[in-house]
Amino acid sequence: MIAAAFGSGSPAMAAPTPLGSVATSGCPAQVPIWKIHYQLFMSSSSGATLPAAQASGALAGADAFVQLVGQLSECAVGIQMDVVLADTPWAGGDDVYAVPMPAGYDAGFARVPAGPSSPAGRATGSSTIHRAMFPVRPTGSGADPNPHLMVHEWLHQVVAFYTPPNGWPSSTDSDAVHAGCNVHSSYQARDPGFGCMILPSYMSDLMLGRVIEGGVAKGLGAAEWARQGTPRQRAGGSPSPGPDPGSNPRADCTPSTPAPNGRGAVRLSVSQLRINQRISQGALWRAKRLTARLDGRPAPPRPRQRAGRITVSRGQLAINHRISLEARHQVAVLCARITGGGLPSLSRRVPVRSVRVNVTQLSRTQWIAQAALRDLSRLESLASRSDA
Ligand SMILES: [Zn+2]
Repeated sequence: MIAAAFGSGSPAMAAPTPLGSVATSGCPAQVPIWKIHYQLFMSSSSGATLPAAQASGALAGADAFVQLVGQLSECAVGIQMDVVLADTPWAGGDDVYAVPMPAGYDAGFARVPAGPSSPAGRATGSSTIHRAMFPVRPTGSGADPNPHLMVHEWLHQVVAFYTPPNGWPSSTDSDAVHAGCNVHSSYQARDPGFGCMILPSYMSDLMLGRVIEGGVAKGLGAAEWARQGTPRQRAGGSPSPGPDPGSNPRADCTPSTPAPNGRGAVRLSVSQLRINQRISQGALWRAKRLTARLDGRPAPPRPRQRAGRITVSRGQLAINHRISLEARHQVAVLCARITGGGLPSLSRRVPVRSVRVNVTQLSRTQWIAQAALRDLSRLESLASRSDA
């Protein structure tokens, strides 16, 4: 359903122009509704422009998306999308965090002119932040986002926000939204002609808690949409569905407290120093990989451990400790970026003089790196990005 341009209420200063609202139709009135702000940018600060006529096509594309959500969820959830035309060029590059979302919405979407290497879509989701962007081309098949791609990106936000009683389908190498590509590839035969990232039958089962994994039906059950509410409702004080440690990040982004591991396991030796170095470098690399993922850059190469000589020395212990502290710092920065939490002040410097050549020092370095790795696992599951 496409309604006429929605009413007043825009701020007095320069503001985007409302183009219209679209809403899922054919569902009962009490269906929970995600309210999405969809802003169209027809030019970018890098000089890319889109033909003005695309704006009306975007309204039809938005309507196809909201109807598809009602259809795939069998009316477990609906979407109201307010489409507005930006009055400024898009200046966010490929940064999904730059997508605007005024108060009163569950999610912010933006349609922007594609850069030379922009992906088709990108999303980010956490318990509180829901944004998606769709870079488009002036003409041709890439001139408007595919409605199924819009569902895909929105599902990243859904997966980040809701907690299904039986959990989301997942695996080690793919998140719930992408699992139709590998873990649950049998869905591909059901939807010939669709890319594995946008399989309608898989997305539908995900939204209805019907993805069978290990004999258990996973995904969000039809009733859970209403029970758990939308981000807007939860922020407004609606009853929370209960403890949700996986998607309620600490707001202040203070790193996990390092805790000692098994006693007696650590010895001051060259091989232990190598292990120590591998853990610290691994934590730093994973932090850099997640940062690159959020920036839309390729993953940095994994550091190779040099075969060169390592000695049990104060200098070597200090190097390892600095790498751990740097990893811890980058994890805190990532946490603040992903959750909107505050950045704690953390020391990254350690004078070599203060480093002792003993097992306690070695263990301390290792605890910090291991805590960083634990925090990274949490952040990696919170941050979602598309490569569809
Ligand atoms: Zn994706």
